[in-house]
Amino acid sequence: MSKDTRLVYSTDPALNQRCPRCREVLSECTCEPEVDVKAAKFVAILRIEKQARGGKTVTVIDRLPKNELFLKQLTTTLKKKCGAGGTYLMSGRDGVIEIQGDKRELIRKHLAAEGIQSKG
Ligand SMILES: [Zn+2]
Repeated sequence: MSKDTRLVYSTDPALNQRCPRCREVLSECTCEPEVDVKAAKFVAILRIEKQARGGKTVTVIDRLPKNELFLKQLTTTLKKKCGAGGTYLMSGRDGVIEIQGDKRELIRKHLAAEGIQSKG
């Protein structure tokens, strides 16, 4: 037995901090942490998927930073560049953008122009 073992009682101030967005105590907060896109190092993964309903082809851009503003702006730009519909999702582990049709070539070019690395 170590003689240094002892119990330390303390009130942790971190437990009383509030979330700046929802004003909840942090332990109660369910906000998703926003990813700092500029600091994030990521490689977007492009893949083709068939939608369950109607079997339409979509280009999925996966592994994007979960930052709503970033995803929203990138989706808008890609929709314009591709002349296709699209949407973004933040429900999974990473941010995801879906653009209708097989637009990998255009998307890859645009991501490169934006300094975003991509694979697939
Ligand atoms: Zn919150």
